[in-house]
Amino acid sequence: MICKQISYHLGEPLEPDVIWEEVQSVCPGIDSSLRPFLETCIASCNKTGWKPAAQSDVRVFSEKHGMAGMVDRIFDDGNFSIIRAAGSMPFGTYAADRLRVAGIAFCIGEMTGNEISGGNVEYIPDGVSRFHAVQPRDRRQVIAALRKIREIQRGELPRHPLNAPCNRCSFREKCERSTGRRLSDLL
Ligand code: SF4
Repeated sequence: MICKQISYHLGEPLEPDVIWEEVQSVCPGIDSSLRPFLETCIASCNKTGWKPAAQSDVRVFSEKHGMAGMVDRIFDDGNFSIIRAAGSMPFGTYAADRLRVAGIAFCIGEMTGNEISGGNVEYIPDGVSRFHAVQPRDRRQVIAALRKIREIQRGELPRHPLNAPCNRCSFREKCERSTGRRLSDLL
């Protein structure tokens, strides 16, 4: 909530009092012990320059791929960014962020007719904005994820992936004794 609210002000002076007031309006009763987190984020963001958004929270969609989503910030030059409330890695972007960037690039590309080469991931607590150029591997993963989601929506039981986090999964017991092919056998 705090990172999101800060993101609306990127590219202009970040005033802690103003932003904290907005956070309180959006989330009445927010614990005041979170205010120092806001100060830390602002101090980090003030270390670098930011592009102001032309539009925030823009819904995008792809009819071709049957998906829709929300983009946090779109800029005048047609580029976009997504906001993360997490710290950044020393370099590169997290796998889930790359997937989101690729999905959004598919959507904006279809809506505008332009080829979208990538997008920025903005890690607010660290004040880092990092461009990710979409790779063929990212596009393949989006398409594979969509295919898997459609199978699950049809009620099919996904195959056990080799590296599934079974040790800490709350469905483990049911999953191991499930012999069915439908998700309802598991859940
Ligand atoms: S135990 Fe959990 S994580 Fe492992 S395959 Fe079953 S549902 Fe997936």
